[in-house]
Amino acid sequence: VRKALIVHGGAGSGKIEKREIKERELGKAVEYGIEAIRSGSVEAVQAAVSYMEDSGVFNAGYGSCLNMLGEIELDAAIMDGSNMRGAGVANCTVNHNAVKVARAVMMYTNHVLVSGKYLELIAERSGLKKEKLTPSNEVLEKFKQMKEKIDDRNSKVYSLLKEFGTVGAVALDDMKIPAAAVSTGGLWMKFPGRIGDSAIIGCGIYADKSKGASCATGIGEEIIRNALSYSLCNLLKFGSEKAAKSAIKMITERSGKNTAGVIAVDLEYRVSYAYNTDFILVAWYDDKRKKVIVPNK
Ligand code: ASP
Repeated sequence: VRKALIVHGGAGSGKIEKREIKERELGKAVEYGIEAIRSGSVEAVQAAVSYMEDSGVFNAGYGSCLNMLGEIELDAAIMDGSNMRGAGVANCTVNHNAVKVARAVMMYTNHVLVSGKYLELIAERSGLKKEKLTPSNEVLEKFKQMKEKIDDRNSKVYSLLKEFGTVGAVALDDMKIPAAAVSTGGLWMKFPGRIGDSAIIGCGIYADKSKGASCATGIGEEIIRNALSYSLCNLLKFGSEKAAKSAIKMITERSGKNTAGVIAVDLEYRVSYAYNTDFILVAWYDDKRKKVIVPNK
């Protein structure tokens, strides 16, 4: 049975906090995804991403960052490469598994992007309970520190890619169907209501059965301006490694360094990643070696 899956836990610069725990959780996310891939690549990417949302160590789900008012607002998306169906959610506050809410939007509506409180009604259809999203003490502590350093009105916060940890996954199943999913709390100290790339098909993710699947992380505004995941997907015919590198070259030329990282899979089950930051955290299942790889470990 052929299969491939790669996950990321964000790209950034500076010190990687809790690196070991994050790498362990990324490895586990791949295991969960590979387990679920029997039911298809969409199930696989959802399983991997929701595992990382549950873990609380990434900027997604339970570990999400806060906006400038100290609130959690989640963005997420999922896309099925078999039929061009995909959907995103923005400013989601109904459940920490924002990727599952996005899946519900994909399954139960014809929309590609839904935001706000009525997501509750769609989430319900998937049996997702409404939760009150409360930040952990650790996240609250970070908020306090940042508040002191950052002027609320200072939009330069967007250049702070030091705090990161969005999660994403792309996969190709035995039927050669690609899929992608992403989930994030967005950027620290973002303006309330700000929507990033992770909610938007073509920006945070893309999947197409004639090409492969891709997922981006980094400064959402730059990723949107470059339609990064769509651009990367269109390059996958050159092989996933070349495609990922070219996509990062493009965004670096147009938007500068320290803006993004990407993961991708092509139709030959080759996974790849590239970034213009100091690092990106990734783990994958290697179809050749038939095992889970967590680099640097
Ligand atoms: N791309 C995400 C956003 O801008 C953040 C990240 O990838 O860390 O919302």
